[in-house]
Amino acid sequence: MNLIIFGPPGSGKGTYATRLETKLGTTPIAMGDIFREAIKQGTPLGKKVESYLKSGQLVPDDLVIEVLKEKINQKKGEKGFILDGFPRTIAQAEALEKIAKIDAIINLQVPEWIIVARLSSRRICKNCGAVYNILYLKPKREGICDVCGGPLYQREDDTEKVIKDRIKVYEKQTQPLLEYYKNKVPFVSFKCEELDLPPEKAVEEILKGMRKIGLYEG
Ligand code: ADP
Repeated sequence: MNLIIFGPPGSGKGTYATRLETKLGTTPIAMGDIFREAIKQGTPLGKKVESYLKSGQLVPDDLVIEVLKEKINQKKGEKGFILDGFPRTIAQAEALEKIAKIDAIINLQVPEWIIVARLSSRRICKNCGAVYNILYLKPKREGICDVCGGPLYQREDDTEKVIKDRIKVYEKQTQPLLEYYKNKVPFVSFKCEELDLPPEKAVEEILKGMRKIGLYEG
């Protein structure tokens, strides 16, 4: 089973994708994480994408598609994958059609005030990428990852100005994908209206939706 988890920045794509893996077995493939790791390692890919991530603009399609193809080959587990942060443009969606069949789209709907509040207080583990929030999804020890003990940091693009630009980019370039997929792939929609909704609750709702369309039996 191959899934896309879709939604604006800060809608919880990465948080839910990692939690869904334990239920569905789908390996998460997170484009943003792949790019951030490449930047950290100083690889040629990292050098090419750094300025885009810093400013919240999209990395050019041909480069993203090339990276995705490679990652799908390397990472797909036996039970398929869940794409987080791909596709983000119509051209990427068209390319994906030639690479893999998608069984469902998990569509996260989150109002802008929640996005801004979440992203500006988000912290991430430098080691393992686990996501926290200093307002409501706090680590047990301040600044330290519960999972691996690594240090937490704030993403460079989680500043107010870049958050606003990322939302604009989403609305202009990525949101049109909802129309593109409307009659092509089944949707599991999840609407979040509380800032501090525990991720487990969101995952439960998503799984209910998956059950309805026959993709989850738990
Ligand atoms: P978020 O969804 O919170 O904005 P991501 O970690 O998914 O964050 O993405 C961070 C950045 O990585 C984006 O702002 C963009 O620069 C780049 N990026 C990630 N995925 C893609 C993609 N599919 N196409 C183009 N750029 C991407």
